[in-house]
Amino acid sequence: MPSFKSLQPEVFVPEDVTIWQWLFNSKHSPISNNSDSEIAGYTNAITKEHLSYLDLKAHSTHLSTALTQRYGFQPGQTVSLFSPNTIWYPCAMFGTLRAGGIVSGASPAYNVEEMTYALRLSKARFLFTVPESIHVAEKAAADAGIPKSHVFLLEGAVAGFTTMAELLAVGRLYANQVQQYSLPLGKTNRDVCGFLSFSSGTTGLPKAVMIAHSNVIAQCLQIQQLTPESHRRILAVLPLFHITGLVHQLHLPVLLNANVYMLPSFTMDSMLQTVQDYRIEEMLLVPPILIRMIRDRKTIQKYDLKSVKRFSSGAAPLSEEVLQLLQNEFPGTGFKQGYGMTESCSCITAHPPSMYDFKYAFRVGTIVANTTVKIVDPDSGRECDVNEVGEIWARGPQIVMGYLNNQKATEETFDKDGYLHTGDIGKIDEEGMITIVDRMKEMIKVKGIGVAPAELEDLLLGHRDVDDVAVLGIPDDYAGQRPKAYIVLKPSSTQNTRDTAISLLKYVRERKVRDKWISEVEIIDEIPKSASGKILRRVLRDISRAGSKGL
Ligand code: AMP
Repeated sequence: MPSFKSLQPEVFVPEDVTIWQWLFNSKHSPISNNSDSEIAGYTNAITKEHLSYLDLKAHSTHLSTALTQRYGFQPGQTVSLFSPNTIWYPCAMFGTLRAGGIVSGASPAYNVEEMTYALRLSKARFLFTVPESIHVAEKAAADAGIPKSHVFLLEGAVAGFTTMAELLAVGRLYANQVQQYSLPLGKTNRDVCGFLSFSSGTTGLPKAVMIAHSNVIAQCLQIQQLTPESHRRILAVLPLFHITGLVHQLHLPVLLNANVYMLPSFTMDSMLQTVQDYRIEEMLLVPPILIRMIRDRKTIQKYDLKSVKRFSSGAAPLSEEVLQLLQNEFPGTGFKQGYGMTESCSCITAHPPSMYDFKYAFRVGTIVANTTVKIVDPDSGRECDVNEVGEIWARGPQIVMGYLNNQKATEETFDKDGYLHTGDIGKIDEEGMITIVDRMKEMIKVKGIGVAPAELEDLLLGHRDVDDVAVLGIPDDYAGQRPKAYIVLKPSSTQNTRDTAISLLKYVRERKVRDKWISEVEIIDEIPKSASGKILRRVLRDISRAGSKGL
């Protein structure tokens, strides 16, 4: 039966080190291989504040010491990071890892309810945030049972909250009293969780994805192998809580000894200014920002972007039309993609440097090292051959441990042979390149971020006029997709349908972050369901494609 193996040389993934030991205390560490002045780091592209990886090693040591000595932090406890991109984010992240903790990144756009859900799901005991988010953080922490004394500020100051600077000072007092966390006897780094990231997976509500230390190490090595030597200045505009940012903007740069330029908040101007100032060669973006690179001509013309050698995209599909326009706007540049999921700790496929060309751009690259892919017919379970379309399954050292406290979803998604069932439909061709054709899972992708229909369905069922509901992604030029709600009204609903639709849109807006807002409502008589009561999303999707009208 055909399964497709990576064509890249195998990488050796060490099993006896934690991420922190590997990046800061091993022969792979940039600290072991460079003089102090050559060691790169994270820079705030606006304020120019800089933390070298040497500083980071010291700070994360002090932070882990403070957490352990002053706050009784124990290995295996979770720390939530609720913040936009800041150079202090990796400090909290690596400090937690050094103490043997688990890091769980949350979207800085979350409201109190969403943040409370994230804290409860990840069983977080500590929380780091920034002054702008302190109100949400404080309320969510209280609702999730986290004491105020465990809510810290990554940067800035707010009366009543302990700051990073204070924690580091505490850590220095106890200098060298806390050893770095080491793997317990008899365990490898495959057994120890380092991150909990949120994803709805193929179905249902968002779940906490358990990412092992080994997954991150393997993925860094898989991508390092495909990275040109010159990739030493990295633009970090993608959010750090998402798997792409976590791997490509936080971990991989340390291994590469590359400088990272972080933008606390995204604007086209600040991004392009950063590209110009730091002569960025590769722009790692998501499709909506690539679309702006085509549309915002006036802004783009203000900057010297000659340094840009290629664009890189991931997290969501990109149309051939957008790729063509991008090539026209930036002649002479190359293009690469990565394809994967939170559950594969980022990439299953990526473009090797020999394929950084627009002619390969629509396909998502070749299989990364140590990884095997199967294409499986979703109806018959038959393994497909080259150029046949089916569900993509992947096995490799980057495939994560499973979902926290959710055996059922874990078993449905990760099979006993170690394959992750991605829920994506695609094919592999004679060149070993994968093309993504469709997504059979429920997940909606809005600007590269996954939105779980089940979360919006649960919410809408709580509306007084709603008898039944199904939420689906519909195409959107800019965001890729937006959620649309199909609603069956209660017989008691007295409003006219237009007023009801408006009230439903408002209802979601008041309760969810912007990316989850419903863009359209359609009132229908019945939600198509299987005999077991499962929503038949494909049937609804066909109705939607057939051009039914929403409000
Ligand atoms: P997430 O867990 O948020 O990273 O979402 C993973 C999903 O995003 C995948 O299962 C795909 O449906 C989609 N995705 C990721 N990368 C790509 C890509 N390069 N092209 C098309 N879809 C992608």
